[in-house]
Amino acid sequence: MKLRVGCHLSSAGGFLKMGKTAASIGANTFQFFTRNPRGSRAKALDPEDIRAFLEFAEEQDIRQILAHAPYTLNAASGDAHVREFARETMADDLRRMEFLPGNLYNFHPGSHVGQGTEEGIKKIAEILNEILRPEQTTRVLLETMAGKGTEIGGRFEELRAILDRVELVEHMGVCLDTCHVHDGGYDIVSDLDGVLEEFDAVIGLDRLKAIHMNDSKNPPGSHKDRHEKLGEGTIGKEALVRILNHPRLRGIPVYLETPNELPGYAGEIAFLKQAFQGGEDH
Ligand code: FE
Ligand code: FE
Ligand code: ZN
Repeated sequence: MKLRVGCHLSSAGGFLKMGKTAASIGANTFQFFTRNPRGSRAKALDPEDIRAFLEFAEEQDIRQILAHAPYTLNAASGDAHVREFARETMADDLRRMEFLPGNLYNFHPGSHVGQGTEEGIKKIAEILNEILRPEQTTRVLLETMAGKGTEIGGRFEELRAILDRVELVEHMGVCLDTCHVHDGGYDIVSDLDGVLEEFDAVIGLDRLKAIHMNDSKNPPGSHKDRHEKLGEGTIGKEALVRILNHPRLRGIPVYLETPNELPGYAGEIAFLKQAFQGGEDH
């Protein structure tokens, strides 16, 4: 089996540029923000750029690209305007993603800012029920969070509760961020099997569609969310390689969001590729 691995890239130059950058650093997928992380208006899509990208991606076997919603959106907000902005932005992102059919769209569930987890969960699911379309080809992922402040998604149960309320749940999935779950208190360093069993029991591993591979600057359970370069943090290379090669995580694409420029990413991608135990059908 081939490793699907990439990193977060700037979308400033368009899709073809991201595809070429990915190929130049040994990646066969990538993540990008759908717009400025502050959530402002997205640039108009350029049909020629999309066409050229799709052709290049086909040639280079670049797939399962992951669009990341602006992290400032809050679908769980108690403020109707903030929620409306999240709904409009995500609906627009999903419309645009259909020009690149069959890919992934990840978002941070949100923060309940005092209303309570249950109310926040209801509001997130309500927005998903308004924006998901039966005919869409994009899969929407809830990201596992570090549980910072009133953030929802720091516990697997919270993600499960959102999924339980979504009508078109066949279009949904989960993205596991290694830094976030570690900071959230899941012991992926010394009990990866146990954490994956828990994920499976609560959410179902069949829902896991992407991995954000990051080391962490902080101790387990710190609820901080500060990413570190692979092997330079509190998770460490050995634990990250165990995640990479875990039999239950086979075939799930891996995206780096480590504090790196392109050469640093190229080095981490090369490291993951050599550490990956692919099996026969390489
Ligand atoms: Fe994220
Ligand atoms: Fe992440
Ligand atoms: Zn993070």
